[in-house]
Amino acid sequence: MNCQECKDQFDALLSRQIAAERRSTAEAHLRQCAACARAFAEEQKLWKLLGRAEKRPASLGFADRVLRQLDSKPAREPRWWEAWTIPWRWATAVAVLVAVLAVSSIAILRHQQIEKEKQARATHFEQLFSVAQVDDPDLILLLPLDQNGDTL
Ligand SMILES: [Zn+2]
Repeated sequence: MNCQECKDQFDALLSRQIAAERRSTAEAHLRQCAACARAFAEEQKLWKLLGRAEKRPASLGFADRVLRQLDSKPAREPRWWEAWTIPWRWATAVAVLVAVLAVSSIAILRHQQIEKEKQARATHFEQLFSVAQVDDPDLILLLPLDQNGDTL
């Protein structure tokens, strides 16, 4: 039995809730290890002090509260890859934002281009309509209808 194993048996030794074989092994270690013997003596003093302390009843529901806490999941430390991903979450958010802005800009530019084309078609249609209104064929030749590549 090493020192840590021996210290782990202190409570069992003092409460006399230890198997005979384990007790004799721990007592053998205490006889040959001065450090553990000193630590065990301190533990014995503490147990005696606690034994003399005034006993107070636990508050109502104390056992239930303790059992509930024991049943609840312990808080877990984040794994290294979880801590590592936190800056990557921000990087991903920024990348998504940039992508959304780029797509929006392209959509706006495309919309403006479509509006210009619509305007040009409307203007062209108005010119064609004005041609239909003219009765004199010589006047038609003077109208600027070949701006969009159209000729009469
Ligand atoms: Zn020891």
